[in-house]
Amino acid sequence: MNKEKTCITDKLETSCCTGCGACINCCPVDALSYGRDPWGYYIPVADKEKCIGCGKCLSVCPVYNRKENGHFEQPRCHAFISGNADELNASSSGGIFTRFSQAVFEKGGIVYGAAWSGTLKEDHLVRHEAAETETELGKLKKSKYLQSYIGYTYRDIQDDLKAGRQVLFTGCPCQVAGLKALLGTEDPNLLTIDLLCGNSPSEQFFRGYLSENFGDGAIRYEFRHKENDWRSDCVCITLENGEEKVFTGRFEDDFQSVYHDHTMCPPHCENCCFHSVPRQGDLTIGDFWGIMRTDPSIPGQNGVSVILVNSEKGQEFFDRFGKREGDYLREVPLAWLGGNGYTGKQSRNFASPLRDRFYEDYLKHGFTVAVHRAAKTKNRNEIDKWFGYFEVLLRWMQKPDPVGWLRNRVEECGYERIAIYGMGEVGRLLYEKMKSASIPVEYAIDKRPQKVDGQLKVVRPGDELEPVDVIIVSILSEFDGIRKLLEKKTDAKIISIRDFLL
Ligand SMILES: Cc1cc2nc3c(=O)[nH]c(=O)nc-3n(C[C@H](O)[C@H](O)[C@H](O)COP(=O)(O)OP(=O)(O)OC[C@H]3O[C@@H](n4cnc5c(N)ncnc54)[C@H](O)[C@@H]3O)c2cc1C
Ligand code: SF4
Ligand code: SF4
Ligand code: SF4
Repeated sequence: MNKEKTCITDKLETSCCTGCGACINCCPVDALSYGRDPWGYYIPVADKEKCIGCGKCLSVCPVYNRKENGHFEQPRCHAFISGNADELNASSSGGIFTRFSQAVFEKGGIVYGAAWSGTLKEDHLVRHEAAETETELGKLKKSKYLQSYIGYTYRDIQDDLKAGRQVLFTGCPCQVAGLKALLGTEDPNLLTIDLLCGNSPSEQFFRGYLSENFGDGAIRYEFRHKENDWRSDCVCITLENGEEKVFTGRFEDDFQSVYHDHTMCPPHCENCCFHSVPRQGDLTIGDFWGIMRTDPSIPGQNGVSVILVNSEKGQEFFDRFGKREGDYLREVPLAWLGGNGYTGKQSRNFASPLRDRFYEDYLKHGFTVAVHRAAKTKNRNEIDKWFGYFEVLLRWMQKPDPVGWLRNRVEECGYERIAIYGMGEVGRLLYEKMKSASIPVEYAIDKRPQKVDGQLKVVRPGDELEPVDVIIVSILSEFDGIRKLLEKKTDAKIISIRDFLL
């Protein structure tokens, strides 16, 4: 074996590899294939006998060899709700993926995205596949919160483009980066859409969850079930006997419990270099949670999509995609996205402080034990509380001009009279920053008024409250209880500091 033959597996740590498959797709002699790390994440494995040391994988890998893509740093931002109730129900957010795909089909194009494999028993539970008709599109709809197997999709796309077909590729930002790195040049027939993405766990975790909770009995799984309303953490599992089980939230479902709080977030997602601006796709789509907080009048009970337009090509497609009667489409400030989407240039992703312990426990004891140990960690509530603050403040501080952002936020929401509930460290910090932004605070509410500086009037929670437009509650862990209490005393809008700052 020639020792000089260096390839990507010698250079990039597996914990940095996103499993995008670009190196595997590009290797001219197929010396690279898909393997898995101990937690089941896809990584390249090299056959050094086959490798000819050409170095192509090193230049293609978008993590090892990062390149600027010239996309906008301040993308234009739109909200979308499909006017077709069936399409909306079949989608995770507002159904924009379906609408964009239809526009591609109308031109004879082909759409690539992530599909469940036929059963829950096969290898590669979620994998990228092509759809050429509306019927085939069904398998790509809805989020599957698992790392999708790219396989040799990029090579198929190269063939489609050579044949002059129009192609829409959708996927996580790291996958869009992988495809673009492989192609090397912009093809006018290729449009890419990336998702707002926080992390994508391995299917190995998911298999552990399925078998430990349902044995062999689960035959169908649906994330983002919309039975009751639009939320991120409702799932529906169909069992062999036809029974459907619907679970909502972290206390009902073990997978949800460790997905949304980033306990399952792998190191390559924690250190992701693709998830913020400039974005990887010509367009970005995601859940527009923030708009519901900023403009509650929007008819978004069943889902709202956010669309970011990131490039000239994306703008051209967006301008002609064809809104239909009944669709809701509106341009809104990018700031409405809040912390979802990490739109600050330097924004970093994060993992829960419990992640490393969870990963170790999983290897030793399996999925369920690892989840329960994480949930029952003696100080879990304390950790949740401080982690909640950490996340909120981090996201806010990552905005290019946090104080200016605060001023804009207050203006956009039309708040003129503001009160703050809770004058601990976080409440005081908010007050100080409000002062720096010249935003008047009418008064504060706190059990211990002596803590606050002489300028700000402080009342106790039991006192009569003067009318204000909004009360911002700085105590995250007790927000629901505090809101109920305040709603009995005032007509002011009551929001948590999380909803205000994100
Ligand atoms: C792993 C993951 C993490 C996400 N994180 C966020 C987030 O933090 N914030 C946010 O606002 N939105 C997030 N989303 C996006 C959101 O859940 C919706 O997928 C998106 O808004 C599109 O919804 P839709 O209504 O337009 O259509 P849908 O029909 O729901 O669109 C489905 C789209 O998602 C793609 N897709 C589904 N599963 C995967 C997968 N495993 N890997 C790659 N692509 C996939 C399909 O190819 C298709 O393009 C995430 C999605 C995934 C898959
Ligand atoms: S160096 Fe060339 S031949 Fe070797 S694995 Fe990388 S792409 Fe393949
Ligand atoms: S190209 Fe993708 S799969 Fe290959 S090493 Fe780089 S990040 Fe990993
Ligand atoms: S967080 Fe980054 S690395 Fe992880 S799936 Fe999303 S885009 Fe890929």
